[in-house]
Amino acid sequence: MRKNFDIGSETVQPGEAKIVHLPLPGLHSETEVSMPVHVIHGKKDGPVLFLSAAVHGDEINGVEIIRRILSLNSIKRLKGTLLAVPVVNVFGFDTHSRYLPDRRDLNRSFPGKESGSLAGRLANIFMSEIVCLSDVGIDLHTAAIHRDNFPQIRADLKAEKLDVLARAFGAPVLLHSAPPEGALRYAASKEGVPVMVYEAGEALRFDEVSIRVAVRGILNVMRELGMLAKSRSRKIKPPIVLRSSMWVRAPQSGILRAQVSLGDMVAKGDTLGFISDPADKADVVVESSSNGIIIGRSNIPLVYEGEALFHIGRSQQTTLLEEHLDRLQDDEALTPPELVEEPVIV
Ligand SMILES: [Zn+2]
Repeated sequence: MRKNFDIGSETVQPGEAKIVHLPLPGLHSETEVSMPVHVIHGKKDGPVLFLSAAVHGDEINGVEIIRRILSLNSIKRLKGTLLAVPVVNVFGFDTHSRYLPDRRDLNRSFPGKESGSLAGRLANIFMSEIVCLSDVGIDLHTAAIHRDNFPQIRADLKAEKLDVLARAFGAPVLLHSAPPEGALRYAASKEGVPVMVYEAGEALRFDEVSIRVAVRGILNVMRELGMLAKSRSRKIKPPIVLRSSMWVRAPQSGILRAQVSLGDMVAKGDTLGFISDPADKADVVVESSSNGIIIGRSNIPLVYEGEALFHIGRSQQTTLLEEHLDRLQDDEALTPPELVEEPVIV
């Protein structure tokens, strides 16, 4: 028989699912605040996986991704333990903000400390109560406000275990990136816990395709970890692996008319957009400085000189990209048969 799982001030028995509330600093009104954690402690041995969303409080796609994962029957029979945290930055989530009330970015405040700032204390609670109890993690993000991301996994592919799991996720794009200092995945890697980041969609919006790719991807990772039975029928399509990426910035301030979408393949010198001013003087062309795939872009036409407009992952794997783009249009390929869910329409 497996041991009980202790988290916060609670104990979860093998075969039990429980919502544990981790106490956080309260509000001015003395309203108590807590971070809810869904704990599913399987009867059989296996790894401990954490899922986290809304570390940036306005990035809400992941909240829906976790809701769908928790609704699946197969999850109730998993091997090992799942810790699912739909809202990490509770303060930012409630105020539709990326940041904390102290204006700090939680994802630059890890590992934090008990006696630190509000962001540092929240980071410290997440590290000690979630990360340090886990073997591996998936942190769910979207692009920042007024930006959009093509579904992608970001991971340090030099970390061997992470390389295998990041490929198993099956997102169209896998971007190798060393974690920035202060990020959750940076602090977790220092504790020996590999964490990948899923980036897709926009802040403060649901995006059905981005949600489905992630639900499918999390199940794929859980199968790879042996937490769920391997799927007999479906083969995971290899991702387009990007070793580097770069941003094309606005050559001048003005009004942008973008000419490329997420997932478009571009060549060096291609026109990505035009910038004009309200009096409609001559256009300034925004050119691609590299061959690659548009993996992120700005959605707001109002731009300042120097602003990051288009994120390009360096690649020329046109055929594989087309296969992935076709797959993103195919509801059946994206939806686990057991998940009967009405799509979110926008
Ligand atoms: Zn984020």
